[in-house]
Amino acid sequence: HLPTVAIVGRPNVGKSTLFNRLVGKRLALVDDRPGVTRDRREGDAHLLGLDFRIMDTAGYEDEDPDTLPGRMRRQTQSAVDEADVALFLVDARAGVVPLDEEIARWLRTADTPVILVANKAEGRAGDQGVLEALALGFGDPVQMSAEHGEGVADLFEALLPHI
Ligand code: GDP
Ligand code: MG
Repeated sequence: HLPTVAIVGRPNVGKSTLFNRLVGKRLALVDDRPGVTRDRREGDAHLLGLDFRIMDTAGYEDEDPDTLPGRMRRQTQSAVDEADVALFLVDARAGVVPLDEEIARWLRTADTPVILVANKAEGRAGDQGVLEALALGFGDPVQMSAEHGEGVADLFEALLPHI
């Protein structure tokens, strides 16, 4: 049984971009059954010699924004509960916003270890956001760019003790 990694974070931080980069063409399952599993994509991920299952949490972009936090929370919690480790993505360019802080509060109560990832950190535009991410209390964020493939070795090093 492969170790399982959940990617969590608010909309638009780059979760699906990271998922696609790690899974590539090895997408094993798209579970589109209605209900709680509807928003979840799972795949077989490969990263510099590590093999693991990965879960992308998504699909609420079209929902009523008023219902978003409750639904995100349920989805995030079920993914995190099933995972051996969670990747908590924030957008280094946008900086930390209240929804990130809310997710951080949920994640602090989970038993699953959390790796904080400051995505979109290519160039210098993410420097301020990386500092803000540090204040979330999950230690030094892994700085990476899912879109440009930067920071992949740092992500590997952060995952290694957990999987
Ligand atoms: P999700 O809603 O968290 O799944 O986010 P997506 O993966 O759909 O990405 C949201 C937007 O951010 C898209 O326009 C991506 O192209 C962009 N994006 C994702 N990763 C990066 C990155 O590393 N750098 C930059 N500059 N943009 C990114
Ligand atoms: Mg997505």
